Amino acid sequence: MEFDLSKKYCFYFNEISKIPRGSRNEKAVSDYVVSFAKEHGLRYIQDDTCNVIVDMPASPGYENSETVLLQAHMDIVCEKNKDVEHDFEKDPLDLYVEDGWLYARGTTLGADDGMGVAYMLAILDDPSLKHPPLQCVFTTMEEIGLLGALNLKREYFHGTRYINLDEGGEDNTCTTSSGGARTVMSKKLSYLPNEAKTYRLEIRGLKGGHSAGRIHMELGNAILLGARVLEKLCQKYPDIRIADYNGGLKFNAIPRESDIVFTSDTDLDLLNQEAQGCFTEIAAELQYSDPGFNGKIVPVETVDQALSAKETLQILQFLNVIPNGLLHHSMAIEGLSTASLNAGVIHIDDGVLYLDDLIRSAAKSHGDMIIHQLEILSPLFGFDFELSDRYLGWDFEKDSEMREILRGVLKDKGIEMKEVAIHGGLECGVFKGLIPELDIITYGPISENAHTPDERLDLASFDRAYENLLAVLERCI
Ligand SMILES: [Zn+2]
Repeated sequence: MEFDLSKKYCFYFNEISKIPRGSRNEKAVSDYVVSFAKEHGLRYIQDDTCNVIVDMPASPGYENSETVLLQAHMDIVCEKNKDVEHDFEKDPLDLYVEDGWLYARGTTLGADDGMGVAYMLAILDDPSLKHPPLQCVFTTMEEIGLLGALNLKREYFHGTRYINLDEGGEDNTCTTSSGGARTVMSKKLSYLPNEAKTYRLEIRGLKGGHSAGRIHMELGNAILLGARVLEKLCQKYPDIRIADYNGGLKFNAIPRESDIVFTSDTDLDLLNQEAQGCFTEIAAELQYSDPGFNGKIVPVETVDQALSAKETLQILQFLNVIPNGLLHHSMAIEGLSTASLNAGVIHIDDGVLYLDDLIRSAAKSHGDMIIHQLEILSPLFGFDFELSDRYLGWDFEKDSEMREILRGVLKDKGIEMKEVAIHGGLECGVFKGLIPELDIITYGPISENAHTPDERLDLASFDRAYENLLAVLERCI
């Protein structure tokens, strides 16, 4: 299997791979799509967040058919192996083929979602295809919270059928996705001088992972476990004062590690004795779900300031009472999480402590309830509460004409279509919020290891899924 550039979708995949396009750096690829539209005489809109919508008229015989929206995001996750020299701001991806899979040397491939972008450009570039009027939507900043899609306006669109090209697998389609909201709870801190000994409480060894796919797995949250242990220590040694608190890397990942720097006149041995009891209890709780958990307290250089003992306790108590993890799961669709939240990142910046949390909920009411709980709790512990980037979920709908069309196309190939329900947020939810009558499917080829340097695209599947997609469009008469 070759990467055959005479196939238009391979050609365009290769072209966009030359353009650096990490999230928030989509201007160049967005302009590339705009010049493509101009060259092909197609109408387009480019908005102020670099989203592009390209209109393609119906092919003969489809003039009266309902418009179909096709959609993919242009940005990619920029991950590379440590030993690889690659500047994601400047360098093209270095594509290569091995055993029928397409890779980028040492970096993410950007098949998520270059595959969808390439499909749309190939379709727009092929006047021989049969299809209804199309609106191809190229979005930005999907990977950092669907921010491009959230900037879209209802009036850009005139279709009620929609194919999201961001979910692969070739034989399946999504039927529901979760809504989401980011919350930042922050607390202005006052520091006092310190002369006591200084220690660091370290939580390590947890699995972590994506807060949509793994929230139901009873994994430890390093930020909250740190708070749990230190609050227990405070009960015995009330002179404990926090100097610094760090944990987690991304709001949508379950934090694997945390560090709390604190001061106390208590000896290390005594602190360790008390902490060891907590570590043992937690390790027992996590023995089947997150067995790598470990914690320790180490002495560090004395810091010259720390919070008051009262403020310390407020922070720790807050972290011990806020809801976290899986809150609800579906009794209709097996294994589907329907409401959760993830305390993803904690850090102190310029005298303010920030806790970044991501709420996910399929039903709006669950999201409302969780937000309300955090709104009630925050001021009780002296925290400010701020909500941003909220988007609604895409709820399962029993009847979907688009799903039946896809099912029929796959059936003709001898494939039984699988329906997938996910707890993650998809741009589908944002579009559903914008156009409530939208009939949605997701479709794409087989790819693996998204968001890692091992990301790869199955080239034979890239061919087949394109054919299937064209067959779906042909049946949208
Ligand atoms: Zn994606």
